[in-house]
Parts: sequence; C-alpha cells; structure tokens
Amino acid sequence: MSQQLIDNFDRKFEYLRLSITDVCNFKCNYCLPDGYQRTHEKQFLSKQEITNLVNAFAELGANKVRITGGEPALRKDFPQIIEAIATIPGIKKVATTTNGYNLSNNAQAWFDAGLDAINVSVDSLDAKTFHLITGKNIFQKVMQGVNDSVKAGFKQVKINSVLMKGLNDIDLDLYINWIKDQPIQLRFIELMQTEDNGEFFNKHHLSGEWIKKNLLENGWSKKESLSHDGPAQIFCHPDYQGEIGLIMPYSKDFCKSCNRLRVSSVGRLHLCLFGEEGVDLRDLLGSSADKEKLKQRILASLQTKKVSHYLADGEVGGTPHLASIGG
Ligand code: SAM
Ligand code: SF4
Repeated sequence: MSQQLIDNFDRKFEYLRLSITDVCNFKCNYCLPDGYQRTHEKQFLSKQEITNLVNAFAELGANKVRITGGEPALRKDFPQIIEAIATIPGIKKVATTTNGYNLSNNAQAWFDAGLDAINVSVDSLDAKTFHLITGKNIFQKVMQGVNDSVKAGFKQVKINSVLMKGLNDIDLDLYINWIKDQPIQLRFIELMQTEDNGEFFNKHHLSGEWIKKNLLENGWSKKESLSHDGPAQIFCHPDYQGEIGLIMPYSKDFCKSCNRLRVSSVGRLHLCLFGEEGVDLRDLLGSSADKEKLKQRILASLQTKKVSHYLADGEVGGTPHLASIGG
C-alpha cells in the first residue's frame, strides 16, 4: 500500500493549507494591527516550487489544498498558481481564503482557473465596524465580491468572521438574518491568542461556547460531523438556507479531528498552527528529482506531531500572528 499522511495518533491528513505570501494590505486589529512589516529577506515560493510541493503531498494522499496568506490575492501570479495546483493529479479541491479586496474583479477568472471554493473574511456586516476592525473602508466592495463569486459559479462561498466582545458581537443577529435566504456558510472563528495580540485577546476574546448556546436556544441543531469538516462544528436550521460553522480552538477535543498540515510561504512545514517553528522543506522544492526525499522528510516530520496544541493551558507557541502562516 502507498505511503499515507497518518500520524502517531491515527489522524489522517488529506488537507494542505499553503501560504503563498505573508504580505497583507489590511490591518485587522487581531492580526496585523500595525500593518504588514517585513521580517525576512526570503523570496516566496515560486509557482514551480509550489507545483513540486503539492505533487509530493498529492502522492502522499492529500486531495485538498487551501491557498492562503497574508493576502494570497496580492500575488500577481495567483491565477497561474491556482491553475498549477488544480491540474495536479490527485488534487480534487482547490480553495482559498481571502480578505476580498479584489474579489469582485477576479472571481470569474479564479473560478475559470480551477478554484473550487472560496472563503471571504467579513468581520462585520456593518460598514463602520468593518472599517474599524480591518483598517479598510471597503465593506461594499467586499460584499460585491461575495455576490460576484456566487454568480461566477462557486458552489461553496463561505464567510469567515472572528466575533469579538465589544467589537462585532452585536452583529450575530445581523449575520444570522443574512443567511435566511442565502446558501452561504458562515464560519465563526473564535479569536486565538498569538504572540503579538495578548492584551487584545484578553479584552475581546469571546468564547465559541457562547455562540453555540445562542444557536441551540434558537432552533439551530448540530449536524453530524463529516470527515472533511475537520475541527469545525456545523449547525443548521429548517427555516434557513445558510449554515453556521463554529471553529472553537479552545474546546476540549478540538485537535482530535485535526486533518490539516500547513506550509508557509517560504516553504516551512508546520504540523500545528501553534507551538513550533516548522521544518524547512525549501532545499527539496527546486527540482522534481527530489520528490522522493521530500516525501520522506514530510512523513518523518509528521511522526513528531503532538496530540494537542495545548492552547487551553495558555500555550501561544511561536506564532507571532496568523498572517505569518496562513491561519
Ligand atoms: N488574508 C486572508 C483573510 O483574512 O481571509 C487570509 C489569511 S488570514 C490569516 C486567514 C483567516 O485567519 C481569516 O479568516 C482571519 O480572520 C483568521 N485569523 C487571523 N488571525 C486570527 C486570530 N488571531 N484568531 C482567529 N482567527 C484569525
Ligand atoms: Fe490580513 Fe487576513 Fe490578517 Fe486581516 S486576517 S490582517 S486580511 S492576513
């Protein structure tokens, strides 16, 4: 039987989250409040290096790739990267997570290049609050991008939102009303503490359990988990076309259903979003002739993956902010 991405705790990894840049043009107050600051001189992975990397992962059984960042759409060769990944044998789904700043103009081109699914981060449905959180006064433009994505043919358009105490928590009802007649999946991501945002976290962290309780009290019910949901808990309601996904990294057992590995924009394999500096793969990405060595390094690294991120114990690991490895 061919080699598979399975760790020592019997978790299977068919999903790769690949960052293609750590540059971002937004200043989300929980992520890059002072905007992007360059901290290294390295070049981001080229399209050829990305192709070699994803080929190796696909031969090890990965079938889904999410392209992330920083802001992935800032790369001029973003459509070419989508196309290169989408045509790799074994890759069944290519997704991206974007802040949506240029989605409206490009949704169709990305769809045509082979992108299957798109997550747009929309941290408020109120234009002023959106500006306050992201530092960008372009709420209408981002929402236009969401509508254009549906029109372009994407079957899956998901909205990511980090609900925060005293900032956008009052938007919960607005969000829920919005998906009454829209086949959109809202994904509420619980604010995570990183090295850089400790004070902000203490002030604004809102437990995902609070949202869950609110949903259950209002007629929403939890759907049975499917293997590709990963750690997300999905809720539905008979009167609503849309669905709600909760990502609650502080909940007990969150890591049990971990199904993803991450590679940074400079080619470091991260076994977890938190707590480790990563394994360098770059020296094996330049030539397809190194594919077998690359696969062996990935497999050997996976055997060191820990059972949990230990976030609930106050561990914030070595991740300054999630723009650095793609969230
Ligand atoms: N720039 C793109 C975007 O914002 O969609 C992609 C990269 S961003 C790091 C990916 C996701 O991580 C976004 O949905 C963002 O809201 C989320 N994120 C960033 N920092 C976070 C934090 N500290 N806690 C929870 N989610 C976070
Ligand atoms: Fe940029 Fe995304 Fe971080 Fe916001 S969450 S600053 S859009 S990387």
